[in-house]
Amino acid sequence: MASSDLDQLIEMGFDQERAQLAVSKGGGIQGALEWLEVNQDKSLEEIKAAAAEQESEEGPALQPGEVPRSLVCNECGKKFRSQAQAEFHASKSEHVDFAESTEEIAPLTEEQKKQKLEDLREKLAAKRAVQGEQEKADKKRNEVWNLLLLKLFIVFSNIILRKSKGRAPRNPRTSRRNSIRNNG
Ligand SMILES: [Zn+2]
Repeated sequence: MASSDLDQLIEMGFDQERAQLAVSKGGGIQGALEWLEVNQDKSLEEIKAAAAEQESEEGPALQPGEVPRSLVCNECGKKFRSQAQAEFHASKSEHVDFAESTEEIAPLTEEQKKQKLEDLREKLAAKRAVQGEQEKADKKRNEVWNLLLLKLFIVFSNIILRKSKGRAPRNPRTSRRNSIRNNG
């Protein structure tokens, strides 16, 4: 299942490493999408740097094979997807009154999932469009700059050519012959 989630994300245009992170952090396509949305403006380096910090706030991520379950802290109402997260919350907050929540942390419906994918796609497309515009502007600037350099090059070449024409004899062959004759 995880590999098809990953494939889907890669098909959407996420790079492999980011998609893999998203799947491992999100524990499924839904979580992965949420994760991607939250982290869309961060570089992979920033994400990795923030990972340790994040762990200290949310508690351990779901381990592969760990069944997500809904636990609720009766003292603050916070819900948890795993036993480990609830335990982590207990250790941090010293809250001790937990209950299995009858109300599951509802998975998204197919419709909501589709909508979320669509939203994300639009956001990505908009982002790419902005990047594309910037690249176009950069390219234009480079072209102008290259043209300028080329013109300068031609101007200087002409100056150098004119100077050397003025100084050097017309035919380098005869000049060499002349110099040999003069030296010998
Ligand atoms: Zn609590």
